[in-house]
Amino acid sequence: MHMPRTSQQLKTAPKSSLVRKHRWMVRASARCVSKSRKIAPRASKNREDEPRHLKLHIVVAGGGLGGLFLAICLTKKGFDVTVLERTQQYRAYGGPIQLASNGTGVLKAVSQRLYDIVRQNSRSFWETTSGIKDGSNGAWLFKFDAITEIPKKLQLPFAVCVDRSDLQSCLLNEISAINEDDSYGCTELRMGTKVQSYTQDKVSGKVRAQLVGAGYVEGDILVGADGIWSDVRAQMLCEPLRGRGSQSTASHTGFKLFSDLPIYETGDFFDIGYCAYIGPNHYFVTCPDRRGRIQWYAFIKGEPDGELVGSPKGFLLHQFRDWSSEVKSLISVSDDANITQRDLWDRPPCLKGWSDGNVVLLGDSCHATMPNIGQGCGLAFEDAFVLADILSNVQDLGEIERSLKTYCAKRLGRTAAIQGLGRMNSEAIKILTPLLPIKPVIDFVVSPFLPFIFELQFGYCYSFCPSKENLEDSLSNASRMRNRHELECKDTWRDMPSTMHKESEHSV
Ligand SMILES: Cc1cc2nc3c(=O)[nH]c(=O)nc-3n(C[C@H](O)[C@H](O)[C@H](O)COP(=O)(O)OP(=O)(O)OC[C@H]3O[C@@H](n4cnc5c(N)ncnc54)[C@H](O)[C@@H]3O)c2cc1C
Repeated sequence: MHMPRTSQQLKTAPKSSLVRKHRWMVRASARCVSKSRKIAPRASKNREDEPRHLKLHIVVAGGGLGGLFLAICLTKKGFDVTVLERTQQYRAYGGPIQLASNGTGVLKAVSQRLYDIVRQNSRSFWETTSGIKDGSNGAWLFKFDAITEIPKKLQLPFAVCVDRSDLQSCLLNEISAINEDDSYGCTELRMGTKVQSYTQDKVSGKVRAQLVGAGYVEGDILVGADGIWSDVRAQMLCEPLRGRGSQSTASHTGFKLFSDLPIYETGDFFDIGYCAYIGPNHYFVTCPDRRGRIQWYAFIKGEPDGELVGSPKGFLLHQFRDWSSEVKSLISVSDDANITQRDLWDRPPCLKGWSDGNVVLLGDSCHATMPNIGQGCGLAFEDAFVLADILSNVQDLGEIERSLKTYCAKRLGRTAAIQGLGRMNSEAIKILTPLLPIKPVIDFVVSPFLPFIFELQFGYCYSFCPSKENLEDSLSNASRMRNRHELECKDTWRDMPSTMHKESEHSV
């Protein structure tokens, strides 16, 4: 994978150094800078098969997963984009995220090159088992066969597991490649630029993103892709400005989240997609990752805004003392210093919509979703795909406001439903766990219905998938990905003393 280092030329760096450093800085290419200075609405000189539409300049607040992907979708339609990202540098942050078939399907529809490179940097869910285990003994309770069965049946691109930072790097790479191509629009990415608020001039139709410090960036449209604590959202919906935690309008999910990503070799490492262990009050999710690591998340029942736990490892070992050895071993190999802790928030669906004149929201800023359903990123990608498509039909500046409303109307029902499913899963675990000691109730009353419910749930999530993939291609790609993944993990484990990372050494 190649990452751009400067804007002037598409320089590439060897993959190893990129993976090690995870520090990127993308500026606009020379072509992009000169173009973005003269942003007057004009007919797009886009590819001949593309519809002719206004050449809009779109300002995006937030260069996270949703904002970067939106820039790709928009520039491929011929628009110019300025992405304003508050952080100075992208850093390696966050572990693997699941990109389900709806997410990979959108990637493939927008750019085959991007889709290919994401697959080269991820592992497939094909031939793995995901599901729910009994936290007390590690026995499987239910398996989510639908994750692989639905794409197989409907010939959809399969779900992958990709590191957040690798995905971000693939998106940045794609932006650089598009910037070098004259037949598309351009993205200028400004790091260290925080949007504070916006103003709109009803006469000119322009929107100004006011920056923290001084200055502004003006465009035809402003998209708030600035995450769950969005400043653009706060102004648009008259919510407390920069309100976080319980001061905000977000809702606490009832859980605190602890997580780490230790290098750890288990006997079934390559056979697991992801696995949720459930038990009284808490649940614990594991997900094998690249380079021999396992991401674990401990969801601990708790109130918001509490103090950080001083020694999270000791705390968690105590909380999970009666749980299966698989759970305790994973906590044991983690170091206090590496365990992150945060309150877990989502947002209730925003039924009044997310647009205000020529300003609109996308991704977590409008529909932050529980991570347990693995859909937040996929939904942000879908938003971007739909928004770019709708804007590509705008023929007149006066149509923008209505187009943004159409986008919201198209996205509201689906995103609200998936937000609801995330919450429902969490509530279902709360109902299910007291029944665990009465195993026959689970076996005879609950289990027969669950495959049907999971099939419906995954079926709905996967129902937005604008591209297909034939089964033979999927199988051969998945098998290549698995071979690469196995080699990469085994290399990592070989270089480490087994006492530090092997399951047998840590079985508790
Ligand atoms: C623990 C966890 C696990 C998850 N697992 C999955 C998974 O498996 N699958 C999945 O699909 N999703 C998953 N998600 C959800 C997913 O991470 C989010 O839905 C996704 O990142 C949303 O993208 P976004 O661009 O809307 O927001 P973000 O990725 O949060 O990006 C927002 C960006 O805006 C920037 N920003 C903020 N304020 C400003 C400002 N005022 N001005 C300029 N820039 C600003 C931020 O620095 C950030 O870069 C998970 C989330 C969590 C917390």
